[in-house]
Amino acid sequence: MIRKLPPHIVHQIAAGEVVERPASALKELIENALDAQAKKISIEYSEGGLHRLQIDDDGHGISASELPLAFEAHATSKLRDFDDFMTLKSYGFRGEALSALGSVSDLQIWTSTADETLGSLGRVNYGVSDAVKPTDKRLGTQVLVTDLFARHPARLKFMKSVRSETQALQQVFRRYALAMPEMAWAILDQQSQKEIRLSPSSRLDRTLWFFDGEDSEQWFSANGEEDLIHVEVLALKPKHFGKVRSGLQFFLNGRPIRDSSLEFSLRRAYEGFTLEPRSLAAVVYIQAPPSIFDVNVHPMKSEVRFLNADKIFSLIVRTVRDSLQSLHLEGVFEPVLSRSFAIDSPPRVEAATDLSRAVTVAEQLVQPMPVARSLENSSLPHHQSREGLQLGLIPDLVSKFKFLGSLDHTYIVAERDQALYLFDQHALHERVLYEELLQFYKDQKSIPSQRLLFPIPVLLQNAEKLVEHEEVLESLGFEMRLWNDGKVQIVAAPAILKRGYDLVLHKLAECRELPIETLTREVLSTVACHSAVRAHDRVCDAEVERLLKSFSSQDALGHCPHGRPTFIRFEVRDLEKQFQRVV
Ligand code: ADP
Ligand code: MG
Repeated sequence: MIRKLPPHIVHQIAAGEVVERPASALKELIENALDAQAKKISIEYSEGGLHRLQIDDDGHGISASELPLAFEAHATSKLRDFDDFMTLKSYGFRGEALSALGSVSDLQIWTSTADETLGSLGRVNYGVSDAVKPTDKRLGTQVLVTDLFARHPARLKFMKSVRSETQALQQVFRRYALAMPEMAWAILDQQSQKEIRLSPSSRLDRTLWFFDGEDSEQWFSANGEEDLIHVEVLALKPKHFGKVRSGLQFFLNGRPIRDSSLEFSLRRAYEGFTLEPRSLAAVVYIQAPPSIFDVNVHPMKSEVRFLNADKIFSLIVRTVRDSLQSLHLEGVFEPVLSRSFAIDSPPRVEAATDLSRAVTVAEQLVQPMPVARSLENSSLPHHQSREGLQLGLIPDLVSKFKFLGSLDHTYIVAERDQALYLFDQHALHERVLYEELLQFYKDQKSIPSQRLLFPIPVLLQNAEKLVEHEEVLESLGFEMRLWNDGKVQIVAAPAILKRGYDLVLHKLAECRELPIETLTREVLSTVACHSAVRAHDRVCDAEVERLLKSFSSQDALGHCPHGRPTFIRFEVRDLEKQFQRVV
């Protein structure tokens, strides 16, 4: 028999979607406090929040006359009509949380506003509300949720252990505390009496706390802006990977969000700068006008839909890559930088106070200095040369590699600035090709293509989907023919590609849903890989010289696009240690 459910049951079922477990109640209540402009939020709980969950804030409170409304479904002070969605700045807007909590727990709220002389207490006990009572005046609002789901054995059964509910509560707390470092936060577990108290601090200090890091020097921050979108990234420098816990946190206008393509774009930004992308630790704060995204997608509101996702992704990639590039440059070309700065800009005080660096500079100064001379002769004004160096645009400043020979037709042996370099010829070639392709693509919006003498048949699933992306295919140098029987032939391909045509196309197919920036990088790095010489290939000296030249004239080429190192460097000092000339 089909029966219509009584309204209170319908309500309870709906409540379960907003409040799944204590942690989701905590999230809603924190957001209410944030919407009330609180500067301090204190939380107490017992039994993972299932028995008791209490949130205190110092926000603007609710007036006695409005309190009964706050408990009603779809009652909100934050959204009036649909157009408000476009300008919405608040966390809440559905007016569901309090009414949902009131139907599945014993919910009490003590609150008062600045202009009231008394406070008020409102209560809803499993859907039955009491009349609002006057109480003492207080600053802000206290919400107490008792015995959540106690009358809903079916839902209680789904609750995990007290331990995992506790963990989930702590996780919510940690993420919001990281989202809003300028606020004071506290959380107390009434059973273990464990308490965390955080006073207002900077984003960097809060980030260190979040990742259990201690040394702020291990982190860098990068800022980027475009069309009213601002991103700030705080991230662990790649050479310190593994020293703190790993993880990625994203905040959009102060709201913690999860988005796999945002994560992907951040990981992408590290491409070539690390071998262990899994050890990444970073926080990304995005500030964007509400009109460019939609948070109403998921009932928990942790997912968003960006209207122009590509733009945000590429802003993140660019911002992070620019910083990584200059960090990397400092690491790889440090002696050169130190010397040129020593001549050009005396007030590089950090260099003198940093002991290890002071020694390098001193050591360098007793050696012949081709770099110094070229800088002295240079007519570049100071600020320009400095900027140029950071971008790696002044090839002359970096002295040339001397090619010494090749080992096993796999490793290139070279010398520069009293250091010995061993290059992996495949990785080096791949990296150089990749940078060249990327540059070409940036300038021309396409890469050189060549018609094939004989079309190559390829086996591709979803070939027709790929062929639909004709423009993208073409800009990446491909031209394809799709036969009626579903067979595909490659008619033209990137001119430099030597093999692996099908693998490049598979990559394209695999990435076709990704933002165009990421897709291009993926495909170009695959093209570079299948075009580069391999281990044991015989490469003529002239070609090796050309590679070394491109290498020294380009920035940050310490890794192949997949992140394997391109070279290993031995300083004279390393050799002296090996030969036990020094200890
Ligand atoms: P929403 O947040 O979507 O508006 P809620 O059910 O969470 O819906 O809250 C209903 C209303 O109660 C809010 O619109 C707000 O006016 C008021 N409110 C809830 N919590 C607080 C608080 N901590 N401080 C001040 N006002 C609050
Ligand atoms: Mg709310």
